[in-house]
Amino acid sequence: MKYTDYILVGQGIAGSLLAWYLIKNKKTVILIDSKNESSASLVAAGIIHPITGRRIVKTWMADELLPFANDAYREIEIQFEEKILHPLGIVELLSNPKEYNDWMARSGEKELSGYIDNSDSIATYAKYLQPFYKSITVNRASWVNTGTLLRTLRNYFLQQQILIEEKFKIDSLSKTENGVMYHDISASGVIFCEGIEAMENPYWWHLPFLPSKGEVLTIRAEMNLDHILNRKIFIQPLGMNLFRVGSTYSWDQIDNLPSEAGKEFLISQLRSILKIPFEVVDHKAAIRPTVKDRRPFLGLHPKHDQIGIFNGLGTKGCLLAPYFAHHFAGYLSGKNELMQEVNVRKLNPKS
Ligand SMILES: Cc1cc2nc3c(=O)[nH]c(=O)nc-3n(C[C@H](O)[C@H](O)[C@H](O)COP(=O)(O)OP(=O)(O)OC[C@H]3O[C@@H](n4cnc5c(N)ncnc54)[C@H](O)[C@@H]3O)c2cc1C
Repeated sequence: MKYTDYILVGQGIAGSLLAWYLIKNKKTVILIDSKNESSASLVAAGIIHPITGRRIVKTWMADELLPFANDAYREIEIQFEEKILHPLGIVELLSNPKEYNDWMARSGEKELSGYIDNSDSIATYAKYLQPFYKSITVNRASWVNTGTLLRTLRNYFLQQQILIEEKFKIDSLSKTENGVMYHDISASGVIFCEGIEAMENPYWWHLPFLPSKGEVLTIRAEMNLDHILNRKIFIQPLGMNLFRVGSTYSWDQIDNLPSEAGKEFLISQLRSILKIPFEVVDHKAAIRPTVKDRRPFLGLHPKHDQIGIFNGLGTKGCLLAPYFAHHFAGYLSGKNELMQEVNVRKLNPKS
């Protein structure tokens, strides 16, 4: 018989960072993960873009989430001597004066002060690009190498002998007077960090998931970029003339198989941005755990205090996960209350 404070199901970015902060709070954890190479976290581009959508608004809680995420990834980098966080401006490619004026008008507003600057990169990248009117640069952006982050933490959890590589079977979970039992593991609670697979978990059927499939390509091109380029799709420099290109959004075909339609869409968008030749060297797909109101949810089940969840990271896992993993670990360690806006108990099951 083994005893642990918490069983965490899933070692995507949610489970990994929740484990990280629980351990820092001197809690013991056992992670169970089915090692899915097509998980959202492993397919993700990892881009942290502080501005959302065509309306050019600051991402929810960006002022708190950004510095927290930067510090969290740097701390992991230092502890394990791995490069994880890549600060990189995002160049928004603009086609006409209206688009440019919209960005410039927003850049002057106090809310976005420091996030946008009007340095134009079109001349610098003209040799690679189709004609564009101008560009602006989004500052305080970055990308997280989620592959390195998750593999680094996985190795650490394996060394600590706290990671079991298998599928967690809900039928083998039983509730006890003081917590839960799973096979020979007794714990005070189980926290599900299953990404989109939570939709198959009977404890969470009531949650408003709206899964979205995303596809990304890796291309090779003779190009030297010091920014991520963005124009409906992003082109993210990975080094050695490799670039990640994405993403698609599909709400009707929910599987993690790369599709011809996804590839064709990304290639046609790429051709509208790049005038140089490129070669597709990889193509991946995964499902994002997106939700209706686009807020993460975390906390304990409305009817079972020993069962919790950390999920709903949607399209912004790399920005949201550090802050809310820390917040949830604090709650589980008795240090803070949960923010109501993200408390899963606000989504009460009807039955
Ligand atoms: C194409 C694409 C591009 C993206 N780009 C970005 C981006 O640029 N920036 C950004 O911030 N976000 C991006 N995202 C979103 C990001 O990937 C997600 O927000 C985040 O990865 C969700 O993490 P998670 O840990 O909740 O879920 P997941 O990454 O899905 O992890 C869940 C883990 O749980 C395991 N698991 C599930 N059920 C069980 C079980 N029963 N037993 C054992 N193990 C189980 C799975 O194997 C998996 O390892 C992108 C997503 C996609 C698909």
